[in-house]
Amino acid sequence: MRAVVFAAEGELTVAERPEPVPGSREVLIETAAVGICGTDTHVLDGEFEGTVFPLVPGHEATGTVVALGPGAGEGPAALAVGDHVAVNPSSTCGECDLCLTGRQNLCRAWNGMGVVRADGAAQQRFTAPAANVFRLRPDTDVFEAALIEPLACAIHGWDVLPRRMGDHVLVYGSGTMGLLMAQLAPRAGAASVTIVDVNPDRLVTAAEVGIEHRYTSAEDADRAEWDVVIDCTGSIAAIEDGLPRVMAGGVFQHFGVAPAEATAHYSPFRIYRDEVSVVGTMAVLNSFGRAVAMFEAGAIKARPMISHSFTLKDYGQALRMFRAGQGRKLQVRPNQDTSQILLG
Ligand SMILES: [Zn+2]
Ligand SMILES: [Zn+2]
Repeated sequence: MRAVVFAAEGELTVAERPEPVPGSREVLIETAAVGICGTDTHVLDGEFEGTVFPLVPGHEATGTVVALGPGAGEGPAALAVGDHVAVNPSSTCGECDLCLTGRQNLCRAWNGMGVVRADGAAQQRFTAPAANVFRLRPDTDVFEAALIEPLACAIHGWDVLPRRMGDHVLVYGSGTMGLLMAQLAPRAGAASVTIVDVNPDRLVTAAEVGIEHRYTSAEDADRAEWDVVIDCTGSIAAIEDGLPRVMAGGVFQHFGVAPAEATAHYSPFRIYRDEVSVVGTMAVLNSFGRAVAMFEAGAIKARPMISHSFTLKDYGQALRMFRAGQGRKLQVRPNQDTSQILLG
């Protein structure tokens, strides 16, 4: 069986590996699709806290259950061979103070499949705990469904925002996360959604998924302030541009990942005087099953968001394309023999 292996920091190989065997309450999954995101580059570059090499990457995965470990076919969410599934990559200790106060996404011993010390899905088959495996409807596109993992992050992002009918929402960044946050905004009650990206090519995707107001600079928009401003870029320039555009009583959210050492400027007086809230959001918290439900309810348009699929052998090429900012969502499809351009 073939697998992508991050052998050490900066060292990417494609290797033959023994067939994984599902343990107690685990299932064996034949991989359909694995999304590539910025986290994968941070893991390979040794910038992700806690990564243990060698590691198989891949944390945005779907596939088909092909074998059950002992006990995996029992219980309320019993899985069966042949089920199409999406996989929540996070596991938490359940014992630390943060887990015990309901903040499992901030667990002090957090372990992410394909990012910390459990092998991910960039291989032909992988094992996962049954509790992390969510069954899809048979008519759900199992490749497009690899967007469910980032969607689960977006749903947690909305969980920590106030929910008010009629809010105006501004999103910075028309990449995968910005497009998901923007598409969920009307579901959260937004009266209008505006998206900003310095790259006009990325705004084409925003148009295709139905975001009405699109600009390369917020300066050009038809309003000057918004109730909710969400940064999905991690860019300091975007953050410093966006925070002053939050209206009095509004909220600014840091969704994008800024460099760990970066700092941004803001006016403490403004935050005080206008009661502006600044909130962070991190990964998935009890939102994976809801992401499956929202995906299957058609809350997001997945097709225009995914531009290329790659074989395992071409994983390095996919990472290079990602780093160069080319294409839309890039996927690895470990059991396909040819890499493909999905959108012309
Ligand atoms: Zn990701
Ligand atoms: Zn914990």
